[in-house]
Amino acid sequence: MGIEPLYVTTPLFYVNAEPHLGHTYATLLGDVLARFWRARGRPVFTLTGTDEHGDKIAQAAAAAGVEPKTHADRVSALFRSTWEAMDFRYDHFIRTTDPYHVAFVRRVLERIHAQGDIYFSSYRGLYCFGCERFYQDRELVDGRCPDHRVAPTEIAEENYFFRMQAYQERLVAALETEPERITPDGYRREVLALLREPIGDLCISRPKSRLSWGIEVPFDGRYVTYVWFDALLNYVSALDHLGRTDLWPAAHGRCSRERCRRASAT
Ligand SMILES: [Zn+2]
Repeated sequence: MGIEPLYVTTPLFYVNAEPHLGHTYATLLGDVLARFWRARGRPVFTLTGTDEHGDKIAQAAAAAGVEPKTHADRVSALFRSTWEAMDFRYDHFIRTTDPYHVAFVRRVLERIHAQGDIYFSSYRGLYCFGCERFYQDRELVDGRCPDHRVAPTEIAEENYFFRMQAYQERLVAALETEPERITPDGYRREVLALLREPIGDLCISRPKSRLSWGIEVPFDGRYVTYVWFDALLNYVSALDHLGRTDLWPAAHGRCSRERCRRASAT
């Protein structure tokens, strides 16, 4: 056993609904893992928190007749009190509405935009409000969203896109040469199978005229950031905020941290 620190995160829980057994189960697993390693003398840092932007939150708040932030405050507090009741221990609880996270997301967007990896384009596509994403025809089952079993809505709008396609080969190469990046191996192979098809570019904005509950795009005040682009950054924005970026990339991976840092700095 080495003394390399372990960074454990739960998923970031979406506050469209109250905590349930599934959230508790995932957090319990993280708590057990953290306690196991702490008991063996390994430094452990644990993160949990709540994902609070996007269509579904705005819809849940509207249904409850309150502002999105009021709704998010209530449900996020419920997650905290549930973890307290369960006697779970964590080092930091992040909310994606925390000002440091909002500022971090805006900095990342500005940087990607400045290096030319974000472009503006019109788009027509099939949108599932439940999933908060556009679908390709081939992904639908009998013309319906495979998760929600409802026909998606055709939406035409102008948005910002991240040149994700340009990174596909790099992703494949990284996952092939460094298999320890995703474990167990079955999941790595699942991701590689997805990467055999063109992944396309990612729509990373939503017009405020349709959805205003999100992080404003720093270079265009008419738009907010797509919730998945915002939320996934929490795993590193929390470390940045706490001065613990030494833990990133996740310390339990065996990839060379120096190389990863260089890759993310270019
Ligand atoms: Zn759906």
